Amino acid sequence: MQSEKTKCKRCLLREAFPEDYEKYVAGLLLKIPENAKTPNAQYHERLDVCSACDQLQNGTCMGCGCLVELRAAYRKEKCPFQKWA
Ligand code: SF4
Repeated sequence: MQSEKTKCKRCLLREAFPEDYEKYVAGLLLKIPENAKTPNAQYHERLDVCSACDQLQNGTCMGCGCLVELRAAYRKEKCPFQKWA
């Protein structure tokens, strides 16, 4: 039987596991300096691309192992497969 953590495909962590998102991601997002943050509209565009990507599983990019909600929040970060910059 599949565990709960393997059922969700193409889900952001906040959608699949809101409690984990709050525990592990939300606080880290608040600590990103304003000058390092991705502008809000661009952040959501990035996450829209991740949400449609085959590499996304439970909020994790299977291509690089990052939590996409964190990676996308840093202005200078890039998708490891050049799907967004
Ligand atoms: S970071 Fe790139 S490869 Fe990874 S899930 Fe997002 S779009 Fe896909």
